[in-house]
Amino acid sequence: MAGRPPTTTISKMNADSQFRWLPLAELRERTSIKWRAFEPDVLPLWVAEMDCAPAPAVVGALTDALHRGDTGYPAGTAYAEAFADFAEHCKELGYTGFKIHGWHDGDRRREAKNLLGVRARVGDDMALMIDPACELRTFMDALYVGRACDEAGYFWYEDPYRDAAVSAFGHKRLREKLKTPLLISEHVRGLEQKGSFVVMGGCDMIHADPEYDMGITGCMKIAHLAEALGLDVQLHASGPAHRHCIAAIRNTHFYEQALVGPDMPNAMPPVYACGYSDLLEAVGADGCFPVPDGPGLGVTYDWDFIEKNRTSHHVFE
Ligand SMILES: [Mg+2]
Repeated sequence: MAGRPPTTTISKMNADSQFRWLPLAELRERTSIKWRAFEPDVLPLWVAEMDCAPAPAVVGALTDALHRGDTGYPAGTAYAEAFADFAEHCKELGYTGFKIHGWHDGDRRREAKNLLGVRARVGDDMALMIDPACELRTFMDALYVGRACDEAGYFWYEDPYRDAAVSAFGHKRLREKLKTPLLISEHVRGLEQKGSFVVMGGCDMIHADPEYDMGITGCMKIAHLAEALGLDVQLHASGPAHRHCIAAIRNTHFYEQALVGPDMPNAMPPVYACGYSDLLEAVGADGCFPVPDGPGLGVTYDWDFIEKNRTSHHVFE
């Protein structure tokens, strides 16, 4: 029914068994509209309000705050400080660049505030990048965060908003309004499509990945495409093939340690038997990662580990 939340009518016996950890009679005592707006034989199916008891830790934190009279809106700076702490930690390890992956809810103000805070903490001698991974809602949100990138001197601004980073026209318009170079095309597949995207003005830097873009051959073609146009290419993520490609490309900048964070190591399993590592701490004192120099990709695999942990097996012929 229009304007009315979804409801269902069930027997009290079923309702009680559904909420055995928080009896229906207790839920009916709640003061929220969910439990006060309907007849006793109607059980609302709203899910925003939990129908189970909150975890003790949540109860404790809320109770403590109430006892202190601390009931205002939180200032919300802890996240920015945590990001800045991690950027500073990476700098101490030897990294010369730091890329922010923010939040999934597309809050432009939080993203902008955070990127400015990271710059303030690490100073001007560390390259900073931000990749909202298309989570910002609109072009105007992308513009808002991009202006903060301009203010803080970011090295690149990657896949900002929810066109899914495939609109050459949208990003051309964005480039006209920002100083920070745009790195786009992580989600554009194929040499021809990437070529069209950049020629149409959709980006300043092209993205390539030897695992996504038709192998090492495809990745190198994209790198040469960028070079032919007088532009730079950036490789997405990490791995032995990525290191070889980067070592063979003139017009590129950083080796990306993908999706690492405090207490969150690289998600790749330890499949190597030669000491190869993409863990955060594996960076050299010079801020670089070595290129494996053995035959092929230069690494040897720990087949005992692989066989023991294998969950499926595919053969490509
Ligand atoms: Mg990305």
